[in-house]
Amino acid sequence: MKLSKLYMPTLREAPQDAEIASHKLLLRGAFIRKSASGIYSYLPLGYRVVRKIENIVREEMDRAGSQEILMSAIQPKEIWEASGRWDRFGPEMFKLKDRHEREFCLGPTAEEYFTTLIKDEVKSYKQLPLNLYQIQTKYRDEKRPRFGVNRAREFSMKDAYSFDIDPEGMKKSYQEMYDAYEKIFDRIGLEYVVVEGDNGAMGGNQSHEFIALADTGEGVIAYGTGYAATAEKAKVVYPEVPDEEARELEEVHTPNTKTIEEVSSYLGEEKSRCLKAVDFMVQEKPVVVFIPGDREINMAKLEGYLGVPEHEIEAMNDEQIKSIGSVQGFTGPMGIDARLIFDSSVARLHNLIVGANKEDYHIKNANYGRDFEGEIAEDLLEVKEGDLIEGTNEEYKFRRGVEVGNIFQLGTKYSESIGATYLDQNGKEQIIWMGSYGVGVTRTVAAVVEQFNDDDGIIWPISVAPYHVIITVMKANDETQMALGEEIYNELISKGYEVLLDDRNERPGVKFKDRDLIGIPLRITVGKKADEKIVEYSTRREKNNVEIELGELYSKIEVDFKNN
Ligand code: ATP
Ligand code: MG
Repeated sequence: MKLSKLYMPTLREAPQDAEIASHKLLLRGAFIRKSASGIYSYLPLGYRVVRKIENIVREEMDRAGSQEILMSAIQPKEIWEASGRWDRFGPEMFKLKDRHEREFCLGPTAEEYFTTLIKDEVKSYKQLPLNLYQIQTKYRDEKRPRFGVNRAREFSMKDAYSFDIDPEGMKKSYQEMYDAYEKIFDRIGLEYVVVEGDNGAMGGNQSHEFIALADTGEGVIAYGTGYAATAEKAKVVYPEVPDEEARELEEVHTPNTKTIEEVSSYLGEEKSRCLKAVDFMVQEKPVVVFIPGDREINMAKLEGYLGVPEHEIEAMNDEQIKSIGSVQGFTGPMGIDARLIFDSSVARLHNLIVGANKEDYHIKNANYGRDFEGEIAEDLLEVKEGDLIEGTNEEYKFRRGVEVGNIFQLGTKYSESIGATYLDQNGKEQIIWMGSYGVGVTRTVAAVVEQFNDDDGIIWPISVAPYHVIITVMKANDETQMALGEEIYNELISKGYEVLLDDRNERPGVKFKDRDLIGIPLRITVGKKADEKIVEYSTRREKNNVEIELGELYSKIEVDFKNN
């Protein structure tokens, strides 16, 4: 491709709302353009990268025995009602009606759709196992679209679904997908970790997340020797506390102490001595969750415990707090009218300071069992610095990353609700066992840029680079230079490389800036020594300009093609 023809409107500056490197550079390098919040178009260079990633995904999925299909992006409401997810997905789902008032959604994922597709036509154990996938645009009305294509509202996802006769089969299919995912992300060249995941809205059993490491990532990984989990899932073991005799209850006046900080400093007590109450409305019913005052609630764990999606859990307003018999900032576990849930650590703490459910008062020396009781949830705490990995003396370490892939063992959740069964060898009807497997294709574009960039621009790995080689002709109006540029261009294309020729009538400085910005891995500069057939050569990674003759150039490119 010649740059004089390529639609590549690069920008000197990134728009204000672009916060992280990948978002800025993809905009500046003319890979993407924003049409609305979280909605992007791909320009020629960007779309080439998308297709490179798609192709790697496709090859490895095919190799693993999955078969590609394409289902429509529009999905009927009924199948989502059958699984109960029409409501469960909540505001994240884009819903629409046709002219006959029939309801549809723009698919955010497709467990229901694939299960519905196969349910009437897969009848016998002989047709299983089966693994189908698609690379299709997905729609999610994210609460906080951000970081460009990293958290978009329209994005490309490869989603695959496996169908097996039993749990063993499901686990085998799962392992095959796990292995295929490692191959995919290895081939792309991402630095990533695989961690135990949070099951979120999918429901089901085991899951793993593939997380590309990046300091700007939204995901937090808690890890140690031989252990890694998302912060959502990392188990918190609250430290043991020394035994204490239970003391007399005592009401204390604590003016203006609505937060744990305020109570603990007013009374001169440790935060861990104060009981933190968090007031929620869960599906419109009052629920108060209690945890030690030095900790935070992990909402993913609470959602898991309640079995309720995020959008059905809200903070109580002052009116609602009043109606359970309390006051905002002074909620305690004694004498209120709500469902009470305690993190298991609370039952082991002694002589706690708890809200008195009246303005400006707390109660000292409250003890679980003697003074209050309720449901005990094993672990609702957010992991933090200093926590130990369960069963060890090792503290968690933390790092950030971007979730690029996610695999789930679904069990029979969807097959049961949608009625996907098969007849076994004895002619007996059995439920199908499923797994689902996602790769964020467009998010992976952002993840690669996040890992491979410098101050001047993107440094694409060869695996997904929009083009392999760029030839910059210093003076477009110099016939010798242009002729040599074209000669090398044609030669490289005939050798199978994907090549850009910068034949634009621009200053060399402009061309070099663009070249760095768009990040083509292998670079040739044709300049003054064109008549001697000598050019300059460098890689984007090392920027090590050297003079080189043509013969040598081609063998150098062959080597660097394998190493970049
Ligand atoms: P997240 O926790 O980041 O919201 P998720 O758990 O909702 O992700 P899945 O439902 O497992 O994501 O979707 C599979 C893959 O699709 C994810 O691993 C991710 O790579 C990609 N993905 C999910 N949401 C988005 C989005 N809003 N924009 C771009 N890619 C996304
Ligand atoms: Mg999500």
